[in-house]
Amino acid sequence: MYFGSIRFYKHVILIVLTLVVACSVASCVLMGISNRHLKKILQENGLAVSAESPSFNSDSENQSDELRSHYPASFDYQKLYPNLAIDNDFIYKEDLPKSVYLTFDDGPSSLTPQILDILKEYNIKATFFIVYNDSMESQALYKRMISEGHTIGVHSTCHQYHTIYQSPDAFLDDFAQTALMLEQVTGVKPEILRFPGGSINSYNKAVYPQIIGEMLRRGYTYYDWNVSADDATSTVTEKQIYSNVINGVKRYNKSIVLMHDLSNKSDTVSALPDIISELKSEGYTFYPLTKDVRPVAFDYVD
Ligand SMILES: [Zn+2]
Repeated sequence: MYFGSIRFYKHVILIVLTLVVACSVASCVLMGISNRHLKKILQENGLAVSAESPSFNSDSENQSDELRSHYPASFDYQKLYPNLAIDNDFIYKEDLPKSVYLTFDDGPSSLTPQILDILKEYNIKATFFIVYNDSMESQALYKRMISEGHTIGVHSTCHQYHTIYQSPDAFLDDFAQTALMLEQVTGVKPEILRFPGGSINSYNKAVYPQIIGEMLRRGYTYYDWNVSADDATSTVTEKQIYSNVINGVKRYNKSIVLMHDLSNKSDTVSALPDIISELKSEGYTFYPLTKDVRPVAFDYVD
């Protein structure tokens, strides 16, 4: 007898097991297909969450904490010096071809009159980024700069990196003194600035986003440089200053040239006439910076 025999029950168990396995496989395949279909629909509607999306794991939480730490605990510095702001209702003008903007930092000094004489002789305009000095001689030089068509910008009052880059408040305290003094003396409100050491340097890593943001919010334009005379070192020669500027300017359509106007920079002064003559003969034109000149600014570091 086959029915009821051991062989019969063996066959029943085998068929049941086969059916269970087959059903499981089939349902997995169907689930896979419907999942893919669902993903496709979500993607088409921009709702898909891919496996590569950032998840809120501990790493990204740490990263957010790090990013948040770049924001100050308070924005109270925005309330300091409410009059320290300028009209920012302007747009940058198109860059002029073969344009050169000579800029002199750290003056005025005993050499400033010579620089002004040379600029006058060649009938060109430049920009002076001033370090605070309210002596009678300096006041006369600020007035002369303005009357001869040059631009005065703010550089610093104390020019001490550790002091001015302590916080946005410290920077504003320092900036305000020079800006207000220059306005009082000349009757012209300075509208541009150059950060001591450039906008981003090894002293202001912790605060430059807030300081730069605050100065832009107040309407000021700041200028770094793309050509340097490299005249800050004491060993540089007149010849080197000349070639640093000439070679630098020839690389750009628009050059903002960093030079220094300190009493020990006589090599800068003596290199100046040849620099101007050479660049003029090559078809370059010199202009003073104004707030609507598109700035040259250092990149933010990550
Ligand atoms: Zn400086």
